[in-house]
Amino acid sequence: MTRRNLFSWLAAVGLAHKAQAAPQQTPAAAPATNAAITPLRLTDAQWRERLTPQQYAVLRQEGTERPGSSALNGEKRKGQFVCAGCDLPLFHSQHKYESGTGWPSFHTAIAGAVGTKTDFKLVLPRTEYHCARCEGHQGHVFTDGPQPTGKRYCNNGVALKFVPEVA
Ligand SMILES: [Zn+2]
Repeated sequence: MTRRNLFSWLAAVGLAHKAQAAPQQTPAAAPATNAAITPLRLTDAQWRERLTPQQYAVLRQEGTERPGSSALNGEKRKGQFVCAGCDLPLFHSQHKYESGTGWPSFHTAIAGAVGTKTDFKLVLPRTEYHCARCEGHQGHVFTDGPQPTGKRYCNNGVALKFVPEVA
């Protein structure tokens, strides 16, 4: 079996698994969503107009930026990381840590600010998370993070904007 054939086979298995698992999946806007947040719904054309092509590819198409490509990797100031699609605050600077992955990483998200769903893009299931207001894709959350949560929110820097705290 060549690598390519193996990959096709894995992809087919992944798709079959996805089809089978679909009914149990939590809807994107699941109960974790904060009721106080008014959803922002725009048309595809409006999103294309509002976002840069790089932001659009990640936020609206669940793309992944190249590791190490975001200036936010080295952002160490106090402040908030807000959704690049709608400005909803998603993370506080004190919850950011250096994961060594090349993507901005956080162990805690602001309560109610992100929703999750399972994705099978790489065959093995991963937990995708997105902005609770505009449903813009941010990254994936893993369970190998530091205390106190043990979580690692692995975020695309291009999907965030940093807002420094005013001293
Ligand atoms: Zn958003």
